[in-house]
Amino acid sequence: MAISRESFGLTKSGIETYQYIISNENGMKAVVSDFGAVLVQLLIPDEGELVDVVLGGSSVCDYEGNGCYLGSTVGRSANRIAGAKFTINGQEYHIPVNENDNNLHSGPDVYNERIWKAETCENTEGDSVTFSLDSPDGDQGYPGRLQISVTYTVTKDNSLKIHYYGSSDADTIVNLTNHSYFNLAGHNSGSILDHEVWIDADYITEADGHAIPTGRLLAVSGTPMDFTSPKKVGLEINRTDYEPIANGGGYDHNYCLNFYSSEAEKQEITLVASLKEPNSGRVMEVLTDLPGLQLYSGNFLNGNFTGKGGYVYENRTGICFETQYYPNAVNEPSFPSPVLKKGDIYDTTTVYRFKKN
Ligand code: BGC
Repeated sequence: MAISRESFGLTKSGIETYQYIISNENGMKAVVSDFGAVLVQLLIPDEGELVDVVLGGSSVCDYEGNGCYLGSTVGRSANRIAGAKFTINGQEYHIPVNENDNNLHSGPDVYNERIWKAETCENTEGDSVTFSLDSPDGDQGYPGRLQISVTYTVTKDNSLKIHYYGSSDADTIVNLTNHSYFNLAGHNSGSILDHEVWIDADYITEADGHAIPTGRLLAVSGTPMDFTSPKKVGLEINRTDYEPIANGGGYDHNYCLNFYSSEAEKQEITLVASLKEPNSGRVMEVLTDLPGLQLYSGNFLNGNFTGKGGYVYENRTGICFETQYYPNAVNEPSFPSPVLKKGDIYDTTTVYRFKKN
């Protein structure tokens, strides 16, 4: 329908950044920036109103050096790598330690603070913006030059489709995710504890006190982790008598999505989770072709980000559904592998689809 571009402000080093507004014919809008390929706003039409359902900042200044990952495109490898090291083809690689003894979200030199190249496209499925990044060999400590793109499309059925595509000139790890914090009552409406969550996953990856998987899977049935039937996220979030909840400070866990089959040559994009805000009846469905989903209830948000309109995001005011390879998968042979071979294509899609119930 339409794409427009506006300034998103100057970075600390004086580089001009832009935000792109992508709309569909129903009035849904996604605002994305070439700074970090971040999703800044997601405006959902509802009875003549537009509700912004993601947490975000007003301009680039809010995003630089902020560790909350709001709306961020996280890579080259999202989530944790134990000991900040891994081996590919017999060679050991070390990446920076930035959380306990481990690496989180490939920091500190994160993809979500780089300037990406933007290209707009209007097509029948919906209008889109593609952000591309050329990540050299050795970038963040990873082998191989990775050329990667992220395409945000706003489709006719009120979905935000995120397509990742790329290749590397050497075997490497690739595990990109989107780290949007959703609040279907509106980004500035407080706690998400009333939202209802459903996840089609019978297991999570069991993790130690630093959120590193032990390699075992833990059945969710009969535990506070169980979202196989829709449940208010706040219902058991403070069950600190249950170790995984105590360790995560709430939900901060990788769900092993039931549909995923390691035998299949190609995974179909499948409905794997949903979020519902009971007062408005707004629903978000999550579809993906990836094996895992990090459910993160914003436990580390604590007023450390002042967002759009000067609104301060307090604890658990947004919830993330980060589709991904399992955490530390590169070091766990039993997990689906996040290694992209030279000559192969990284091609994965996650969709956030909006409805009303
Ligand atoms: C992690 C959290 C972390 C957060 C940072 C999530 O993906 O699982 O532990 O604090 O990212 O925003």
